[in-house]
Amino acid sequence: MVRFTVLASGSKGNATVLCGGRTRILVDCGLSCRELFRRMRLAEEEPERLNAILITHEHADHVGGVAVTARKLGIPVYFTEGTHRAWMRWLSPRKQMTYAQWMEQVRKQTAERQAEAVAAVDGEADESEGLEAAETSEKAGKPAKEKDPTWLPAVEYFKSGEPFEIGDIAVSPFTTPHDAADPVGFVFRAEGVRMGYATDLGYISPNVKAQLRNLDLLLLESNHDLEMLRDGPYPWSVKQRVMSRVGHLSNEAAAGFLENDYDGQAVYVILAHLSESNNLPELARVTAERALNGHASLMANRLLLAAQHEPLLPIAF
Ligand SMILES: [Zn+2]
Ligand SMILES: [Zn+2]
Repeated sequence: MVRFTVLASGSKGNATVLCGGRTRILVDCGLSCRELFRRMRLAEEEPERLNAILITHEHADHVGGVAVTARKLGIPVYFTEGTHRAWMRWLSPRKQMTYAQWMEQVRKQTAERQAEAVAAVDGEADESEGLEAAETSEKAGKPAKEKDPTWLPAVEYFKSGEPFEIGDIAVSPFTTPHDAADPVGFVFRAEGVRMGYATDLGYISPNVKAQLRNLDLLLLESNHDLEMLRDGPYPWSVKQRVMSRVGHLSNEAAAGFLENDYDGQAVYVILAHLSESNNLPELARVTAERALNGHASLMANRLLLAAQHEPLLPIAF
């Protein structure tokens, strides 16, 4: 059975569990580990059975709980290399450094500590913070994670446009237009069921359009109502960012896609990443419904709204 459960969606945290075959993955990890586990249990999912975490991009609402969760469960995290680097830079205390400078500093510190360790009489002082050292001390059973906020049990890189598999789930990552280092959306396939995951995108690019076809489930951003955003509380600079081609998808833009480009195949359409300041669930729903109703063939489409503060009921195929 395939199960798709949105645990949280919005600028305060995103997380979705997808089970297919014997594999169970978490897509984005923007909740604290404690809250994530609480919501998983609410949805009758066992956190201990997660096999991997996949990250779309490095914004806090998608990665906030990733280090703690991955460590607690001892599972790998899948990133693009660009996203992983950006995440590490974000957690690095010296934010003004470039990645190259930061890596150089890590190398130096590692070398220094290794030299100290060699010099140490008892020879047990292998607690350096470098990435390689982190792996070494993990193998030796020492928690380098205590010192390095970017330490993860295992990191797997994928590239946008290059499909791969995690156990029984096939993953096709595609590039999304968003103001992050290397943001992606996903199309998942498990047991013949195809599911699309596209949030945090300024507009629906031709590439995204091409990916979101033949889906049984479509999760699509419907972030803000344009008028509410314009008249709302955000400073103008933030409004411009949200509205830009690398910001977030408006209700109107989501509806435009649903009306003109969407093939109407999905059994479920989930509106996601709704803004709490610049949107109303009913507004998002009505706008999307109107767009979907334009198609006579779209009777099967069940429209659901993902929420920030509580999980959606699991969707099973
Ligand atoms: Zn986001
Ligand atoms: Zn984002």
